[in-house]
Amino acid sequence: MSSRSHLLNDRTAEHYRRSLTHGVERVAAKLADAEQPFTGVTPAELAPTVSAVDLEKPLGTASEALDELERVYLRDAVYFHHPRYLAHLNCPVVIPAVLGEAVIAAVNSSLDTWDQSAGGTLIERRLVEWTAQRIGFGPSADGIFTSGGSQSNLQALLLAREETCRLVRKNSETALSTPQILPKLRILTSECSHFSIEKSAVLLGLGPEAVVPVPCDEQRRMRVDALADLMERCERAGETVMAVVATAGTTDFGSIDPLPALAELCEQAGVWLHVDAAYGCGLLTSQRRRALLDGVERADSVTVDYHKSFFQPVSSSAVLVRDRDTLRHVTYYADYLNPARSVEKEIPNQVDKSIQTTRRFDALKLWMTLRVMGADALGELFDEVVDRAADAWRLLAGDERFEVVVEPQLSTLVFRYLPPERQRSQGGDEETLTDRANLYARDALFASGEAIVAGTVVDGRHYLKFTLLNPETSLADIATVLDLIAAHADQYAEQQTAQRTAAPSPALSAAQAC
Ligand SMILES: *Cc1c(COP(=O)(O)O)cnc(C)c1O
Repeated sequence: MSSRSHLLNDRTAEHYRRSLTHGVERVAAKLADAEQPFTGVTPAELAPTVSAVDLEKPLGTASEALDELERVYLRDAVYFHHPRYLAHLNCPVVIPAVLGEAVIAAVNSSLDTWDQSAGGTLIERRLVEWTAQRIGFGPSADGIFTSGGSQSNLQALLLAREETCRLVRKNSETALSTPQILPKLRILTSECSHFSIEKSAVLLGLGPEAVVPVPCDEQRRMRVDALADLMERCERAGETVMAVVATAGTTDFGSIDPLPALAELCEQAGVWLHVDAAYGCGLLTSQRRRALLDGVERADSVTVDYHKSFFQPVSSSAVLVRDRDTLRHVTYYADYLNPARSVEKEIPNQVDKSIQTTRRFDALKLWMTLRVMGADALGELFDEVVDRAADAWRLLAGDERFEVVVEPQLSTLVFRYLPPERQRSQGGDEETLTDRANLYARDALFASGEAIVAGTVVDGRHYLKFTLLNPETSLADIATVLDLIAAHADQYAEQQTAQRTAAPSPALSAAQAC
């Protein structure tokens, strides 16, 4: 085949149709027979297969490349659609969005300028408006699709930084330069917030120390009194609070910071409030739980990750702002792309609002989703996983083998296995044994591929985490995974105890000698 026969155009439409149908069939078959979320393959086992592929020797046909792909990727991929995938904030995807993805790839619009996207720009703008309305923002709102929550947070904080610098300059008698202002800027966010806040601070030239962690209550929500104290303390120290970042759905606990009280404080102090709703944004479509987001409409900016709780394929996210004027901080003109005169001619160029240039038409996936199934259907899916988490919490709370940290507001559960008294008293350091047993159980489960769970650290101790985003995950699945975890952890603790009883550690014998 000639090189040009691979180009997608009017003459290759048939080749395109066959090639994609072939691929879709393979994937459909794969999804249908995935008995486990994962095979448990290790990097060392898989690496030689990938290394052995000679990239200088193309196979020539899609069919052969798909056969090879089976070995290098599909066979051992991690499948989020499987009901026992319970690890991170990855959702199963809805079919209308996957259809949208196929259209995006083939038409390949770039959403930076009107002359590279036309209707794509209008569709993205409608969806930004739609999301802003769901948030409860007024007519001055705007926003832009981004690659993910991390980028949305970065852009929001960039706007906050620029607005704060402008205000500091306005209020100071001496003409302060940006390098003079930046070291004094602080971002206040709960100790449970996402690590992209810290990364953003670094990227924005503030350094990681600019992020001041605000203590949380028992439910892992930002403490308003602690925030008020810290704001005062910053002021006394001559520092400027550039933004308060509230989280609506923390990554570990799904906890939602008290948005109305935080909004009140920020309004009084004239501080930018950013709400990171990367996870909790699914509540925007919930018929039963929308009230959990009350107060979000008072934010200056909001991050939403459609690729988490809107069941969209990666990537699909947006940053929304209450006042569209603030987006001017990322507006730059280039003669070859979006010349300043395009503004006078009222040509809508999305690049004027984005930190990216060439940009995917991710909005189309959400568009297809809303046009085929509608927002209520999405909300039902999200409500279902939140209900399931509540049931799973009851299951865990009533199970002596486990200890669970908080009752979830959304769909995560942080818990740990507690070895029985008998093992704990003989297993040396009790907390160390518990930590190791949980770490071991997570690794053993991953290696078996039977289920995938996440892990985190709470107050210095190792915990396990379920993130439920799949309505297909039943309570019975959860019970099965808990049994698997208990069996692995118990096996580990049993082994440790046996070793200790056989050969007491020097420390133990010394203690006994006293
Ligand atoms: C996932 C997450 C992010 C980061 O989003 P990405 O899309 O992974 O970049 C930010 N904040 C919170 C609370 C998250 O859960």
